[in-house]
Amino acid sequence: MSITIPADLLPADGRFGSGPSKVRKAQVDALAGVWQTYLGTSHRQKTVKSQVGRLRQGLRELFSLPEGYEVVLGNGGSTAFWDVATFSLIRDRAQFLSFGEFGAKFASCAKKAPHLGAPDVRVADPGGAPAFEVTAGMDAYCSPHNETSTGVAVTPRRVAADSALTIIDATSAAGGLAVDASEFDVYYFAPQKSFGSDGGLWFALMSPAALARVSEIKESGRWIPDFLDLQTAVENSVQDQTYNTPALATIFLMAEQVDWFNAQGGLSWCADRTSESSGLLYSWAEASAVATPFVTDPALRSGVVATIDIDDAIDATQICAALRANGIVDTEPYRKLGRNQLRIAVFPAVEPDDVRKLIGSIDYVITQLA
Ligand SMILES: *Cc1c(COP(=O)(O)O)cnc(C)c1O
Repeated sequence: MSITIPADLLPADGRFGSGPSKVRKAQVDALAGVWQTYLGTSHRQKTVKSQVGRLRQGLRELFSLPEGYEVVLGNGGSTAFWDVATFSLIRDRAQFLSFGEFGAKFASCAKKAPHLGAPDVRVADPGGAPAFEVTAGMDAYCSPHNETSTGVAVTPRRVAADSALTIIDATSAAGGLAVDASEFDVYYFAPQKSFGSDGGLWFALMSPAALARVSEIKESGRWIPDFLDLQTAVENSVQDQTYNTPALATIFLMAEQVDWFNAQGGLSWCADRTSESSGLLYSWAEASAVATPFVTDPALRSGVVATIDIDDAIDATQICAALRANGIVDTEPYRKLGRNQLRIAVFPAVEPDDVRKLIGSIDYVITQLA
C-alpha cells in the first residue's frame, strides 16, 4: 500500500538520522566557496592548518575548556578511538558502563587487549543505565554520555577515585547535550552527529591528567601501533595537524557547524534546542494511544535521540517505509535492538518546527495504516 503524505504536513528537511545526520546547506555553500583555495591543497600548509586551528579553537570555546585541556584529533572515527584508548589511556584495568551497543563495544576492545587486566563491566538492560562504583584497581572509568542505540543519556560525573581517568564516549552527545568539562578527563566524539559533518575523524577533549597518562604509558615502553599512538596525535594536534592525511571537507564542514553553534549562543543554545525537539516527541508519544517512549525513566531520556515504541498492532517498519517513500529518512530503530520502534535524532541542526511537522506526518501515516 502506498501512502502519500500531504505536502503541508511534510517537514522542510526530512533527515532525522542518528549519524550521518542532517548537514545544513549553509555549511555546504561555505565549502563550495573554498573549492579551489582550500580543497585539494596540502594538509601540511597554513591554509589547511588554519582551518584545523579554527575548529580546535571553536571546540575549546563551545565546551568552555579549562586551562590545560587540549583538543586532540586523528583519523578513524570513534571506533578507532576505542583502540587508541585501549593502547594509550588505560594503564591496566578499567570499569565500563554497558547499556547498549556502543558502550559494550568499547568494553569488548579492552577485554581483548592482551596487555590489559580484566575489565569490570557493569551492565544494564537497554532502556536503563548502570552507575559507576568506585572499585580498587581501576585506573579508568568509561561510559557513553548518550547511548545512541537505545536513546538513554547519562550526564557525565567525575568518579571520585584517586588518579583514575573518567573517559566519556560523547559521539552522539557532544554539541547536543550540556556537559561540564570539569567532570571528564576525556570526552571523545566524531563529526557526523551533532556537528553535521562526515564520519572518519575522532576528536578528544583531554584534561591535564589524561595528557599525563598518555605520556606515562608511552614512556613505560608498551608497544603501541603507530596509527593508534595518542602521544603522536597530541603532538600533531597542538600544531593543528594530524598524523596522516585527514578529510579536508569534513574538517571544514565541522568548523562551520561549531562556529554556527557558538554564534547562536554556544552549548546551552544547542542543548535547549535539542531538548525542545526531543520534548515534542516524548510528549507526543506519552499522549498517543499507539506510541510510548521506550525509556521509561524520564531522567534517562536522551535529548538528542528519541526512541519511541509503537504498539504491536502497527508494524513500525511500515511506518518507517512510508516516511522514507515521502522523503523522511532514517527513522528506523537500531537494528540489533530488535524492537517495534522509531528512533528519531534531533541534533541541533534539526529545526524544532520540522519535528512538529514530522509528528504530523507520523500521525497521518498511522491513521492510514490502521
Ligand atoms: C556513532 C557512535 C559511535 C561510532 O562512531 P564512528 O565514528 O562510526 O566510529 C560510537 N559511539 C557512539 C555513542 C556513537 O553514537
